[in-house]
Amino acid sequence: MGLLSLGTPLDWHESKQYNEHVRDNGIKQLINIFKQHGSRQNDIFYWGDEVEYMLVDMDDARKTAKLSIDRDYILLDLNDPEKPESYQKCIANNILFHPEYGRFMIEATPLRPYHGDRIRDYLYVEENMARRRLVSQSELPSNIKPLTLTAFPRMGCPEFTSPATKPIGPASQSLFLPDEIINRHVRFPTLTANIRKRRGSKVAINLPMYPDKNTKLLDDSIPRDRDLFSSDREPSLGAASPGHVYMDSMGFGMGSSCLQVTVQAKDIDEARYLYDSLAPWTPVLLALSAAAPVFKGYLVNQDVRWNVISGAVDDRTFLERDVDPYPGYSLVGGLDVPEEVTEHMRSLGGVRGVNGDRVINENGETKVYTNQGRPLQKIPKSRYDSIDNYLGDGTYGSKKPYFKDEYNDINSPINKKVYDQLVNAKYFDDKLATHFAHLFIRDPLVIFSERLDQDNELSNDHFENLQSTNWQTLRFKPPALYAKDLSEEELAKTPGWRVEFRPLEIQLSDFENAAYSVFVTLLSRAVLKYMPDLYIPILKIDENMATAHKVDAVLNDKFWFKSFDLWNIDLGQFVGYDLSWFDRFINHGNDDLAADEVYVKGYNEPAVRRFSNDFVPASEQCQGFNESKVSVRELINGNSQFPGILRIIIKYIATDLLADETNHHCLTKELALKMLRLQSYLRLISYRASGKIPTTAHWLRQQVLRHQDYKRDSKVSSRINYDIIKESTRVSRLEPDILEEFFGSTISDYLLGTGAKEYDMANGDAH
Ligand code: ADP
Ligand code: MG
Ligand code: MG
Ligand code: MG
Repeated sequence: MGLLSLGTPLDWHESKQYNEHVRDNGIKQLINIFKQHGSRQNDIFYWGDEVEYMLVDMDDARKTAKLSIDRDYILLDLNDPEKPESYQKCIANNILFHPEYGRFMIEATPLRPYHGDRIRDYLYVEENMARRRLVSQSELPSNIKPLTLTAFPRMGCPEFTSPATKPIGPASQSLFLPDEIINRHVRFPTLTANIRKRRGSKVAINLPMYPDKNTKLLDDSIPRDRDLFSSDREPSLGAASPGHVYMDSMGFGMGSSCLQVTVQAKDIDEARYLYDSLAPWTPVLLALSAAAPVFKGYLVNQDVRWNVISGAVDDRTFLERDVDPYPGYSLVGGLDVPEEVTEHMRSLGGVRGVNGDRVINENGETKVYTNQGRPLQKIPKSRYDSIDNYLGDGTYGSKKPYFKDEYNDINSPINKKVYDQLVNAKYFDDKLATHFAHLFIRDPLVIFSERLDQDNELSNDHFENLQSTNWQTLRFKPPALYAKDLSEEELAKTPGWRVEFRPLEIQLSDFENAAYSVFVTLLSRAVLKYMPDLYIPILKIDENMATAHKVDAVLNDKFWFKSFDLWNIDLGQFVGYDLSWFDRFINHGNDDLAADEVYVKGYNEPAVRRFSNDFVPASEQCQGFNESKVSVRELINGNSQFPGILRIIIKYIATDLLADETNHHCLTKELALKMLRLQSYLRLISYRASGKIPTTAHWLRQQVLRHQDYKRDSKVSSRINYDIIKESTRVSRLEPDILEEFFGSTISDYLLGTGAKEYDMANGDAH
C-alpha cells in the first residue's frame, strides 16, 4: 500500500498549497535516483509476490460471514521485535506482513525476494504463501479466517462488519461503509477524505446489475432520506445510475484484494522493454484471473474488480472528467482557482457551456489556472487505471527498436513543467520524461507536515508520494536513494529497476496464487529470453481492459494482440513444448527418440506428425496486420499458427531454467515432484484459458445462481454470502471433495496425490 510515513497528515485544504512543493522536490529526487542508479547493470532477476487477505469472522452457528475489523493489532504484533513470539515467526518463515487500506485487511510478502534462476524458488513460493496463512491464523481466534477473496460479497450491506458498525463516518461520508473499516493509521482516513475533497464530491461507482428473471433494475439499498452530510443527496443528483449497483466510497475498491508480482530487470533498459512487453498481457491476465462477480450484495454483470477500484480513488474534479457538475457543485472541486475564473465558468454554464463556448477545448485544455499557476486540463483516466504510455525499448539489446511513437496513441496529458525539467536533466529521453510527467499531473493526496522538508539527495518520499498513488496496471519501480558514499558493491545489493504486474485478482488457494505468480514471472523471463515484439497501440490495450471486465470474457471474447507473424521470433522452435513435455522429462522420454532430443529439445519433425494435436507452424502467415483479435485460449494454448505462450514458457524452462541445476536430466524424485507441480501450475492457467475449468468468478456466480435461497433477483443474501464464503474456504484448504468441481479431474488428481503438501510452521524456513 505504498509508503507509510509517520506524523501529521494535512487535510486537503491545508495540504494543497504544498502540491507544487511536493512535485518540484519529487522530481529533484527522481533525477537524483537516475544519477545514482541510471548506469547500474547486471542486477539479478529477483522477484516476489504480494498477497492481500481479508479477515473474515465465520459464525457457523448463526451462519454469517462478516469482515472482522477489530483484529488489526496482529499486524503490529507481527512487526514488533519487542513481541518476539509473533515477530520471530515471520523471520523464521521468511515472511513479512504489511498494512493495507482496510482494517480487516493484511498484506503479506516473502521477507526476501525469490531468485529467478533457481527452479526451487518457483516451487517455494507456494510454501511461503502457505506459511503466511498459517502464521496469520496462529495470531487469530479460530473463527477469524485470513481469506483471499477479491471482493467481499456483502461489503456495504447491513451488518457486514464484526463487531457491528453504522455507516456514519465523516471521512468517507459513505451511505454504506463505516469509517471503522478504514485502517487506523491516520494516513488512510485522510486519504479517503482528501480524495473526496479534491474531487468535490464523493466517488461514484456504478456497476451494471446482473439481469436475472426477477431482478428489479434498481439499487434499493440506497437510503434516500438520510440527512447527515450534504453529500447524502448525491445519488438523487445523478451519482447513481439506474440499473446499476451504486457505491460511493474508497473502501469498495481499496477494500478489495489482489495479487501483485514484482520482478527485477538487469538494468533500466531491460526494465523498459519488459514493462512494455507485459502491457498487452495485463487485460488478458485480468480476464484469466477474474474472481469478483458480486458487489454490495448484488450479482453484477461483470467478473472483475478493476473498474471498482479505479472509480473508488478517482479524485478528478468534474472539469477534469469533462462532465457537468451536479447542481450546486463546483466544476473545479476542491481546487483553488481565482474568483474571476469561477465567474467566467459560471457564465459559460458548466463544462459543456451553453452556446458551444466550452470551458474545455477539443484538446482537453482549459484557460483555467489554479491559484498556484497550474493549468487545469481534462484527464481521461483515474489515477488507478491502465497504463497510458509505453516507456520505449530504444536502446535495449542490439536489436532494432520495436517501439514506434504511434503506439503511444491515447490522449495522455503531461505536466509540461515536469517534462521540461526531466528532458533537461541528461538521464531522460522523451519517453521516460513523458512517463513521469504523466504521473506528475496528479496532486499528492496526503502530505505529512513533518515531511515537507527533505534531503533530496537521500530521501525519495516526495517522489514516492506521487509514484505510489498512481495505481496503474504496471508500475515501473526505480531504485531508492542511498547515501552517496555507498560503495558500488553495496549499491548493487539494493533493489534495482523493477516492474510490477498489478492487474491479477487474488485466487482462493495458495496453489492458484502460486500458479499465477509463477506464470507472470516465467512469462517475464521467456519474454526477456526470446525478445518478441509485442507492441500494439495503447488504445487497443484499453479496449481489451473493457473486454476483460465482461462475464466469462476468457471464454466468450477476443482480445487485440500483436499478430503472431510479427512477433519477430521463430515460432517453429517451440514445437513439442506442450504440457506433456514435463511427463517426458520426468520419465526420461517415453517415446523412441534419443533421450536428449526428446526432453531437452522438444520433438523433432517426425514426432510432430505423431502428435497431431500439437502445434504445427503454419507455412503461410497471416496478412501482417500489426494486431489481430485472438481468444485467451489461443494466446495461452496456441492455434495452428502460434504455439501459445505456454509452449514458449515451457521451452524456457527446459532449456534455461533447468540447465544449471540438472544438466537436462531428471535424476531425482525431488526434481520430478517439483516439475510436476510446475506442470500443474501451467495446467491451471491452460485449463482456465480453454474453459476446461471455471474461473473463480464463474464458479462464484454459479454458487449464487444454484443456491436454494437465491430468488433470481440478483441479490446475495446474508445466508448466501455465508455459504459461498464457506465453500471458498474449502477451496482455500484444498478439501478433497471440492477439488474436482473447482479444478477438474486432472489437477484434482494431482492435488490429491503427489500434490498434497503440509507445511510445518514450527520447523521454520529451511530455504
Ligand atoms: P509495494 O507494495 O510497493 O508494491 P511490497 O514491498 O509490498 O511493495 O512488495 C514488493 C515485492 O517485491 C515483494 O514480493 C518483495 O519480495 C519483492 N521484492 C523485494 N525486493 C525485490 C527486488 N530487488 N527485485 C524484485 N522483487 C523484489
Ligand atoms: Mg497491497
Ligand atoms: Mg505491497
Ligand atoms: Mg505492490
